Amino acid sequence: MTGIYAENSEGIFKKSVLEAASYASKIQNGPVTAICVGKPKDGEADKLAKYGVNKLIVIEGLDFFDAQLYANAVTKTIENSGIKTLVIANTYEAKSIAPRIAVGMNASLATNVIAYPDMSNGFTVKRGVFSGKGFAYVKLEKANKIVAITPNSTDLIENNQSISIENTATEQINASTQILSTSKSAGKIPLTEAEVVVSAGRGMKGPENWIMVEELADLLGAATACSKPVSDMGWRPHNEHVGQTGITIKPNLYIAIGISGAIQHLAGVSSSKIIVAINKDPEAPFFKAADYGIVGDAFEILPQLIQAAKNR
Ligand SMILES: Cc1cc2nc3c(=O)[nH]c(=O)nc-3n(C[C@H](O)[C@H](O)[C@H](O)COP(=O)(O)OP(=O)(O)OC[C@H]3O[C@@H](n4cnc5c(N)ncnc54)[C@H](O)[C@@H]3O)c2cc1C
Repeated sequence: MTGIYAENSEGIFKKSVLEAASYASKIQNGPVTAICVGKPKDGEADKLAKYGVNKLIVIEGLDFFDAQLYANAVTKTIENSGIKTLVIANTYEAKSIAPRIAVGMNASLATNVIAYPDMSNGFTVKRGVFSGKGFAYVKLEKANKIVAITPNSTDLIENNQSISIENTATEQINASTQILSTSKSAGKIPLTEAEVVVSAGRGMKGPENWIMVEELADLLGAATACSKPVSDMGWRPHNEHVGQTGITIKPNLYIAIGISGAIQHLAGVSSSKIIVAINKDPEAPFFKAADYGIVGDAFEILPQLIQAAKNR
């Protein structure tokens, strides 16, 4: 039996969770069970139902995120539900709880999975490795399996179900950490979830010029990102830094403005479906990785792109 861990952010299921539901119901070839921690907002369970979930088990009683407590509660729920293969979106939360659940379930775990499994002879998945520069095919040998799929790697597949909701209780005891307060990052669209990313580098000359980058991003419904030096210099917040030492992303469209395309930068973005590079230097390395290149001054091209997006 296949199920998903449905991570929620303040009661909302993100697109990556719906991709996990689609993936799970495709490999199950039928409806699947979802497990989440904390009560989802009204209407959110219906989102899961649209992508193949017919039962949602809500774990209540954990007031803040503690990886070990979450993993313990989810593992116990999995044991009671009969789930053998768990699909989970490969997010920060997943990275901390999936290995713990794998120990609890005595399961084979594959992270960074980017395609549907080959089940013709066992269960083999394709993983992105070396910051997306290579692939590995991994066979999951144990009866219990956890597959953590990279957001934006697989399709949303509608498979409408009617969903039942079951509540189960646990307690926040012996937490190893305690969250005292949180503050949200400024970006409107989370970078790891974004389908379109407008990113800029040192070629933008200074933070005051990001007004154009943000305007284009707003018009395209995109998240903003940047190169490492840009965040190091404090032009942009660190949570926008993509690359080997920053966030790895896989949007459908990555627009890189005034970024040279150093290998360390490409390590975090080269799996994007379509890359557009804008650089005044025709020899900039980014053009080798890009699907489309515009050679020119960003300060002339960006206003034209903004105007074109407005006209659209
Ligand atoms: C261990 C290690 C880890 C690293 N990790 C990362 C990482 O995670 N992410 C990362 O980004 N970098 C990382 N770096 C740094 C990386 O090597 C590069 O130095 C960095 O990516 C360069 O940033 P940039 O392209 O913004 O700046 P630059 O290299 O200065 O390039 C600016 C580009 O803008 C172009 N340009 C200038 N003016 C204009 C204009 N008016 N219009 C259009 N184009 C213009 C230039 O032609 C140039 O190509 C790492 C480095 C090391 C050693």
